[in-house]
Amino acid sequence: MPKMRVVQVSRARGPLELAERDIPEPGAGQLRIKVQACGVCHSDSLTKDGLMPGLVYPRVPGHEVVGTIDAVGPGVAGWTVGEPAGVGWHGGNCGFCEPCRHGDAFACATSSLVTGVTHDGGYAEYMVAPAESVAHVPAGLTAAEIAPLMCAGITTFNALRNSGARPGDTVAVLGIGGLGHLGVQYARKLGFETVAIARGRDKAPLARQLGAHHYIDSTAEDPAAALQKLGGAKAVLATVTSGPAMGALQRGLAPNGTLMVIGAVPTLNADTLFLLNGRRSIKGWYSGVASDSEDALAFSQLNDVQSMNEFYPLSRAAEAYDRMMSGEARFRVVLTMDG
Ligand SMILES: [Zn+2]
Ligand SMILES: [Zn+2]
Repeated sequence: MPKMRVVQVSRARGPLELAERDIPEPGAGQLRIKVQACGVCHSDSLTKDGLMPGLVYPRVPGHEVVGTIDAVGPGVAGWTVGEPAGVGWHGGNCGFCEPCRHGDAFACATSSLVTGVTHDGGYAEYMVAPAESVAHVPAGLTAAEIAPLMCAGITTFNALRNSGARPGDTVAVLGIGGLGHLGVQYARKLGFETVAIARGRDKAPLARQLGAHHYIDSTAEDPAAALQKLGGAKAVLATVTSGPAMGALQRGLAPNGTLMVIGAVPTLNADTLFLLNGRRSIKGWYSGVASDSEDALAFSQLNDVQSMNEFYPLSRAAEAYDRMMSGEARFRVVLTMDG
């Protein structure tokens, strides 16, 4: 039996450990991907720390996967061995339930599969994925460029394009980290008057470099008031993991504006009177499905949106994960399978 290297977690809050396994065979409806690169995402902590219900260990994390199709399982159409492919957070859906039949596969009622959570993900030389979760990847982009777009990219791009803001509207991105540095680029390239909000004056040059028209230092001024001085934001994309920082920006919304929440926080207070008086809203946004990934990749390639990455070989996944969790990485951490 040919073998592969994986990095797995054997128990909740256990370490990331290198292991050798048999290369898995794709079952009916599945594809096997020879992984070239896999981004390390903050949500991998859900797998590592046992925070998703029903997690079965050992589990291989990783949902920013890119590689090539290595084997096609029975009953799968539309894929050939050798073509490039990617997988994100959305790990599959049934296709026959009520939400699936209405085009809401993200909300599948019968099999809410998550890559690297309900089945093994991309911290591995090979992985098997349900075919409906696999995205086609355009030629001309390297695996290293693509990997972070499979979660950080699709999540920010898809939230922005579904925020209700239209070209020319003012849109703010809170945070310039792994998600935010992509969010600012997408906001600019989608045609919004783009405001970046972060802590400290020193991030202003970076914000401009990423395409922001305005920079608000939230340690120097009230960011909501600063947004109102700009006329209010039609959308705010919150990429930080602080409920209070997120919540405070409701007051920066223009009438009919929306605070887009793409990361979980323990609590988020709603400013109800301000919301209802201006018909403002707080909306959660799910990253997206395979076709959304394809849109995000195509848009990124067309408009030259690029993730800034730090690279680690698979064998140093534990170090890579710690680096990501430290918040110090500039800006995404990516595992490559060549060492
Ligand atoms: Zn992610
Ligand atoms: Zn379904």
